[in-house]
Parts: sequence; structure tokens; C-alpha cells
Amino acid sequence: MVPLDPIDPPNEFELIAALFAPLAASAPEALALTDDAALYATSPGGQTVLTVDAMVEGVHFLPDDPAESVARKLLRVSLSDLAAKGAAPKGYLLVTAWRDGTPLSWMRAFAAGLASDQQIFGIALWGGDTVRTPGPPSFTLTAIGEVPAGTMLKRGGARVGDGIYVTGTIGDAVLGLRALRGGLVGLDKTHRDWLAGRYRLPEPRLAAGGALRGIASGALDISDGLMADLGHLCAVSGVGARIELDRVPLSLAARAAVALDGGLIEAIAGGGDDYEILFAAAPGREAEIADIATETRTPIVRIGTVLPAGEGVNPVDAAGRPVAFKHLGYRHF
Ligand SMILES: [Mg+2]
Repeated sequence: MVPLDPIDPPNEFELIAALFAPLAASAPEALALTDDAALYATSPGGQTVLTVDAMVEGVHFLPDDPAESVARKLLRVSLSDLAAKGAAPKGYLLVTAWRDGTPLSWMRAFAAGLASDQQIFGIALWGGDTVRTPGPPSFTLTAIGEVPAGTMLKRGGARVGDGIYVTGTIGDAVLGLRALRGGLVGLDKTHRDWLAGRYRLPEPRLAAGGALRGIASGALDISDGLMADLGHLCAVSGVGARIELDRVPLSLAARAAVALDGGLIEAIAGGGDDYEILFAAAPGREAEIADIATETRTPIVRIGTVLPAGEGVNPVDAAGRPVAFKHLGYRHF
């Protein structure tokens, strides 16, 4: 640990020594952040799974979001991708682009957030880069995971007749974001705070994802929104799907919000940032899936069925009638 002058802005090397080297201390792959690259040997019989995500202030997080939760969400979003691929996380690479004049206290809190999640998920920093920017801050994280060779869950394996399942509850994050932006005013403060927490701190479903290797026919994590990501899964698999909206699992807080405004169901089906796993599995796998839910303590429910491609990707109500939504899913551009 190198002491930093709280007044003079630290240079890149001081920052790395003070903030990032401690995050890399437990990982031999990181070479104590003293080299140009990390060095990693995949386990025998394993394959490496890599995923990268960027978060930009004003786009993926709010300017007043706490630094700890920005850092933890950044890490968890990538871990969620590994979870949906059935991969076990090993380490990560990080690029931080700090806005000029970012207080050292904010940077320290960011590193503290990473440190606490490293403990939870048993991983460490392997390398990265740190730069300054005159624009909004942005953070880019590459997560490295492993699967036994040939077992990574892919998007493109869903078959007609498969059930469609999700972990956890859907829509909490989009409702939490609305609450943070001053919406959902009629809703209990306890519920609004809980939803905001789900927006700020997703729960990567690593245990469930790992257990679904060999069982799920196709899988991805919900980041753009339930209907949009279902569309992605179906497009790559060359199939269609029907989702029964009344089966989509909602938290207590989301149900309370919908009770006040039934129109929120469209936001729930269309909103992003859930970081739950959406997967398809052949009929006959129900009992194994129920066991996985119990063993990994992860709620998993069936919400629909894979159909031939010509059927499209459709939400239906409890009576089986098609439901038309106006705006579905987060579009990046
Ligand atoms: Mg993803």
C-alpha cells in the first residue's frame, strides 16, 4: 500500500499501487501488476470464457450513484454473463477512465466496492489500465471464467417445444431506476428502496448457471429486458416463443407497484438490468430444474414455450390472448 497525497492528484502509477495492487495481491495471474500482461493457464480439460462490459456515467449509472455500488455493479454485470454461460469466474481485467478532478475518496470507495465483491465471488483483479478523461467517467471490465470443455451454455440451442424459464424476479431494476428518478411516488418507501437496491446491485446467478450446464438448451442473462433478450435467444436459435405474462415472477415490491399501476407490466417485460438467467430446456427436464432451484437456492420458474420461428416472439395474457406492447427492450443505439 502506497500512501497517497489527498491534495495532489495521484499519477497513474501511484493510483495503481495504492488502489489496484491490493485487489490483485491474491492472484498469481496478475504478477503483482508489475508486468505488461497477466498470465493464465486454463485448467486441464477446461475452456476459457471471456466477456466484457462497459459502464458510462449518465448512460449505465447515475452521477450520484455511490462509487461502491458503481464498481460492484460493473463487476456483477460481467459475472452475470459468465453465470448465464455456466462458467465459474476466475479473474478480471479493468479499465478505469476517471473524470478529471475525481476525488481520491471516490476512487478509494470504488476500489473498496471491488474488494468486497472479490471476497464474495472468490476472484481477483488480474490487470488493466487507468486513464483520465475530460468527459463522463466510464469503466470497462473483462471477466474471465472457465467451463469444462464443450459445456458452455449458448444462446443458439433452444428447440421447438422446450420450456422457457427465468431465475429470480423480473422488472425490479427498471422499477428501481424509476424510483431513483423520483417515480413510483405512491409506492411504500420500503418497496422503493428495495427496488433501487436491485437496480444498483444485481445478483449474478453463478450457482444456478453452473448447475444448468448440460440441462439448458439455450441461455443468456437478461440485460436489455425480458422480451428483448428472449428475442435475442430466439433469433440465434432460429425459433419463436410465447411468454405467459401472468407467470413472469414478480417480487413483493414489484407486485405492489403493479397493483398501483397495471400499466407497469409493460415496463417490467421491457425494462433491462435484471441480470437474471433466461433459458430454454427440453420437456422432461422439469424435475432436474426444480432440484437445481432447491440446491442453489435460486427461484426458477417456467414462463413460456419455444415455438416455431414463424410464430414470432409473443407475450400472452392469462387467457392466452396476445398482448401488444409499444416499446420493448433497451436499444443501445
Ligand atoms: Mg449478457
